[in-house]
Amino acid sequence: MAERILVVEDEARIASFISRGLRLEGYQVEVAPDGETALDKAFGNPPDLVILDVMLPDIDGLEVCRHLRAAGAEEPVLMLTAKDAIPDRVAGLDAGADDYLVKPFALDELLARIRALLRRTAPPEANVPLQFADLELDPATRQARRGERNIELTAKEYDVLELFMRHPRQVLTRDIIYDRIWGYDFGGESNIIEVYVRYLRAKLEAGGEPRLIHTVRGVGYVLREE
Ligand code: CA
Repeated sequence: MAERILVVEDEARIASFISRGLRLEGYQVEVAPDGETALDKAFGNPPDLVILDVMLPDIDGLEVCRHLRAAGAEEPVLMLTAKDAIPDRVAGLDAGADDYLVKPFALDELLARIRALLRRTAPPEANVPLQFADLELDPATRQARRGERNIELTAKEYDVLELFMRHPRQVLTRDIIYDRIWGYDFGGESNIIEVYVRYLRAKLEAGGEPRLIHTVRGVGYVLREE
């Protein structure tokens, strides 16, 4: 499942450079052009990581970071600081940032820092096999089995099924599934979720097993036993 990264940067050229690179790596990206928008977004739907430029037009990055930490936000914060501004780096770490990167930087360096920060904060149970009824999913190998039967899943099918397995018996709305798996708006006419649910049902029920992914009409889907 794609990790969500909030990019707080007012310079459009840099923001788009960063977000293009992150999306290519499979991250979901949101951009906030100023501190106030950043706080709204971070509190509204906490991201997995924040990339935070120090120099912002309204509330500066240090202040944004202090606000986040004061409110108990625990996601890692990677601060972007101006070249050679050593006081900025110290201040950033003091404000609760986890790491900093000096501008200008190469995308590879940014990606390496992000991977390290996300590894550090990944919940330890992230790789424990998931079990529901006779269905088992192994996040470490991305393999699924139902009873004794191995099930071959595509990458997206796996992602959708893992989302259900991590939220058993909870109704997942179409919006939640879009946001978590696709990360952008397909518009009301898209039937991509229906298509994936159909694929998954076909594979999960290929041995005549009972249905596990049920439709909640007008709302979404739920993983449950009948
Ligand atoms: Ca800036």
